[in-house]
Amino acid sequence: MTTPAPDRFGPVPRRETRQVVVGGVKVGGDAPVVVQSMTNTDTADVAATTRQVADLWRAGSELVRVTVNNAEAAAAVPRVVEKLDMMGIRVPIIGDFHYNGHTLLANEPACAEALAKYRINPGNVGFGKKKDTQFAQLIEFAIRHGKPVRIGANWGSLDQALAARLMDENAQRAEPWDAGRVMREALILSALESAQRAVELGLPAEKIILSAKVSGVQELVAVYRDLARRSDFALHLGLTEAGIGSKGIVASSAALGVLLQEGIGDTIRISLTPEPGASRTQEVIVAQELLQTMGLRAFTPMVTACPGCGRTTSEFFQELAQVVQGHVRAKMPEWKISHPGAENMTLAVMGCVVNGPGESRHANIGISLPGTGEAPAAPVFVDGERSVTLRGAGIATEFIALIDAYVEKKYARGIAGGA
Ligand code: SF4
Repeated sequence: MTTPAPDRFGPVPRRETRQVVVGGVKVGGDAPVVVQSMTNTDTADVAATTRQVADLWRAGSELVRVTVNNAEAAAAVPRVVEKLDMMGIRVPIIGDFHYNGHTLLANEPACAEALAKYRINPGNVGFGKKKDTQFAQLIEFAIRHGKPVRIGANWGSLDQALAARLMDENAQRAEPWDAGRVMREALILSALESAQRAVELGLPAEKIILSAKVSGVQELVAVYRDLARRSDFALHLGLTEAGIGSKGIVASSAALGVLLQEGIGDTIRISLTPEPGASRTQEVIVAQELLQTMGLRAFTPMVTACPGCGRTTSEFFQELAQVVQGHVRAKMPEWKISHPGAENMTLAVMGCVVNGPGESRHANIGISLPGTGEAPAAPVFVDGERSVTLRGAGIATEFIALIDAYVEKKYARGIAGGA
């Protein structure tokens, strides 16, 4: 008789990091992995930027970054924050600075104050002799205003002086590294040395988040494993320039999934290129779904649906799965307050009798639709038990009513299984 393999299923241990508080949101330490996003409006357009930040926040973004690239954008930031505040939206806004951040923060103290965090790219904070001075100025603004910073190195804007130094050092090695390894080391060192410099300038380590982004999956995994091994700063994870559509989603999920499974990563952003006309909020939904499907956090009830096959030629079950997912996502902001815990609910929409009843029994509520040639009846399962059978044109409406009634009963405030 063989011995069963040990059960390796369980909570994913997180790497221990220093906790940073960004506008009231905890990042790192024992805090759950935080979802963040970035706008793509012209920040100077106050109305459009406010609208998009509000959309991202409603979708569940817990931090939102905006670019602060010129005087008009810097002047707009406090107005955006004020408008959001008037709408009752208190999401921390992060300013993304490149090249001229030191000047913008000096000229717009209201912007420096309104932002919850500054993102500094050590690769383009300044060049030559100005680099150290301008980096120090940015850190001094952060200290003066009590703000945390993200030191965000990026493969696309690598510190060229540092890269050249490491290339020279590599040439002296008895067995030189390949160019890729040297470049990865330059990226990591750019983040680590800049963080060290910030600490020397007086910024507490609890005010520093690090990132070192690349656009290749394997490179990102290698870089972050190394970064995690060599520091205890909170880490912002993201695959830069992930791409459009399914490619961006798959590449980001592949890279971030590996790292999150190893306990690496305290906040994530999915850098999707939106498809023409698509909502910017997709990057938030992907980030949430990545964390939720990995069992790291719960944001909204998840719908399990079969892929369909020749046993069900109707598109009805696909439409029902979409309608159900849309319904619970739309209801979640309200349920979050009135029915906490509803985000953990699981749902199943299945296409035929083969896996339908079994999968539906595993969900809190599941429906097994009739496949081709089966009797036109759709049994519903509630907490593993067969409940009612739905028939006819009203299946979708009736199933959604059953979901709402289940939430009402199971997750009402103060009821066992609820809050
Ligand atoms: S549950 Fe039925 S319809 Fe869905 S994939 Fe399986 S066999 Fe096909």
